[in-house]
Amino acid sequence: MAQYFGTNGVRGTLDTFTPELALRISQATGAYFGFGKILVARDHRLTSECLFHAVAAGLVSAGCTVLDGGVIPAPVAEFAVKKLNADGLVVITASHNPPEWNGIKVVDRNGIAISRERGTEIERRMNQPLQAGWDRVGTLQRYESAIADYIAAVLERLPMEKIRQKKLRLALDFGNGTVGLVAPALFRALGCEIVTLNSHLDGRFPGRPSEPSEANVSDLMAAVRATGSDAGVAWDGDGDRVIFVDEKGRYVIGDKVFALCTGWALQRKKGGIATTVATSRVAEEVARKYGVSVRYTRIGAPYLSEVVAQEKILLAGEEVGGVIWPELSRAKDGIFTAAKLCEALCEKPLSKWLEELPVYYNEKTKIEAKNENEKQKIIQNIRAYAVKNKLPVIDMDGVRINFPDSWVIVRASGTENYVRVFAEAKSAERAKELVEEYTKLASG
Ligand code: MG
Repeated sequence: MAQYFGTNGVRGTLDTFTPELALRISQATGAYFGFGKILVARDHRLTSECLFHAVAAGLVSAGCTVLDGGVIPAPVAEFAVKKLNADGLVVITASHNPPEWNGIKVVDRNGIAISRERGTEIERRMNQPLQAGWDRVGTLQRYESAIADYIAAVLERLPMEKIRQKKLRLALDFGNGTVGLVAPALFRALGCEIVTLNSHLDGRFPGRPSEPSEANVSDLMAAVRATGSDAGVAWDGDGDRVIFVDEKGRYVIGDKVFALCTGWALQRKKGGIATTVATSRVAEEVARKYGVSVRYTRIGAPYLSEVVAQEKILLAGEEVGGVIWPELSRAKDGIFTAAKLCEALCEKPLSKWLEELPVYYNEKTKIEAKNENEKQKIIQNIRAYAVKNKLPVIDMDGVRINFPDSWVIVRASGTENYVRVFAEAKSAERAKELVEEYTKLASG
């Protein structure tokens, strides 16, 4: 059976993720969800329109009712699933991937993205005849108010008057992505004066690459300084991930965004914190100050959403700036995260918030491994070493070993022939030592 689903749904360029394949996966997705009412949303990539028609045709031909949410950011669509009481959601997007890529993310009625494991259930159905009879095919309806409904829900969850009085100035870099359809209205409603970069939608992403890495947002960092803004914010292509720039124009990496959010959430209310085993220790240390321990999960947003649905979680996040606020939805939401930044800025400047975070240094390397067997052998070596030396291990995804002031993770890359070694410590030397030590151990 062919495997299409990865950690983040199905991704490919148009020659591999063809409209024909999108149609077949969508028919099977409709069957997996028990048919019913399926919301379909898309980003503005050049191939999204044609893939949308294939996805809609697949679902409708299988007998589903399609609600067409139009071109909207992923978090807006994920929020709408519950509001519309939909049986499922298909988002056509390739997130931060280069413009020639596209894909689909499939989300269930509980707001949980379909993992690789659950994806096999959909793949299995692809071999069955799923075409409904002529009098059983579904219909397509427009859902026009997705953005307005989302903005209203976000504003309801914020101290609007307090933020409005603060009259914040923000520099916002949409990276030519769909957040540009939502953020200006939202931040103006919060009384912010906004300076925008790369604000027009363009599926070629001419302004900057869609990944909001430090190298890619140098214009934003300069704009924050030039305009005297209180902060800068940049999103990835579909708006689920976000990074900040402080008022001095300094880049705030995703790991720190999650650590900041952990403090903001816990200072208002006590509750569980969940994150992936690849995330920095900083958030864990912030949580510990509030007497909260961190629940670790496998790497990948679907696993985080599953934990959020099963346990009492106040906040969840991953290492690249994706934060889940269960009070709004079970998906990573870069737009709500940026709105929460406004609330935090009412108290003190972003640089002051950052000063309070514990400082860690990290170091990483990758070890070549010819195939899956070789990767697993390396992981086994590390696990055996940890067990033999009675080290505290988390081995749900690779092997993470926690020391009092540092930690190291050795894990196989899901897509490339590498095993990655990543360490974090209170000093740069210690992080380097750990990476060297574990690279040596990995080789047996
Ligand atoms: Mg994304």
